[in-house]
Amino acid sequence: MNPALRHDYLAALGLETWVERSAAPPPQVSAPTDREAPPDRGAPVVREALAGREAGVDWPELKARVAACTRCALCSTRTQTVFGVGNPQAQWLVVGEAPGAEEDRQGEPFVGRAGQLLNSMLRAIGLAREQVYIANVLKCRPPGNRDPSLSEAAECLPYLEQQIALIKPKLMLAVGRIAAQNLLHTEVTLGRLRQQVHHFGLSRVPLVVTYHPAYLLRTPTDKRKAWEDLKFAREVCARV
Ligand code: SF4
Repeated sequence: MNPALRHDYLAALGLETWVERSAAPPPQVSAPTDREAPPDRGAPVVREALAGREAGVDWPELKARVAACTRCALCSTRTQTVFGVGNPQAQWLVVGEAPGAEEDRQGEPFVGRAGQLLNSMLRAIGLAREQVYIANVLKCRPPGNRDPSLSEAAECLPYLEQQIALIKPKLMLAVGRIAAQNLLHTEVTLGRLRQQVHHFGLSRVPLVVTYHPAYLLRTPTDKRKAWEDLKFAREVCARV
C-alpha cells in the first residue's frame, strides 16, 4: 500500500505514526495442542446437540431461516434480524458479538461509529469493507445491549457455522471479548487470547482475536494494540 495512504488510514484510527519492524519474526501458525487449548465453557451438551443443525443449507434458505427464527427469546424484542453482509467468497470473516441499536434498526452489522472505525481498521491493512464478510455470533439484538446468554449463543451459532461453511474463509477475525469467548468456547480474557492463532470448530479455520471497535472508541489508548492484532492477522492470512 502507498505509504501516504497508509498514514491517512492510520491517522483515522488515531495512530499518527507507524514503523514497520522488518526484522519481526513471522507468526507461528500451528494446530493447538491439548496444552494450548483454552478451557471449555458451559453448556457443551447444548452446543453439541445443536452443532451442524443448519448443515447443507444454501444462502437463500439460510437467510430465510434466520429472518423467521424464533429459537430464542430475542425474537420478541428485535426490530429485525441482522444476517451479515459482504463478499460471500471473502478470505476474511469478521465476527462480532451481536447487533446494537443502530444495527437492529438498519439490519446490517457494524454500522454507526463503531462500524466506521471497523472500516478504517480494515482499510489500514488494505481491505475494503466490501471485500470481507461481516457477521455476528447473534443475529438479534439483546435488549439494552446486554451480553448474550449461553443458551442464546448456542441456539444462534449454527447459523454462523453454516455461513462459515459457505464462505470458507482463510481467516476469522473475532472482534471483542464476547465474540472471541463464544467462538472459542472459553472464558479466557481477551488480553490473553490476542496475538495467538486459534482455530474455529471442526473446520479449523485460523482465528485471530482483537478488540471491538466500540471498545476502542471508549478506550483509544488500545488502538495501537488493535493495530498490532490486525498486522498479526494479515501475516497469518498470508501464510495460510
Ligand atoms: S438471536 Fe439467533 S437464535 Fe435467537 S431468535 Fe435471533 S436468529 Fe434466532
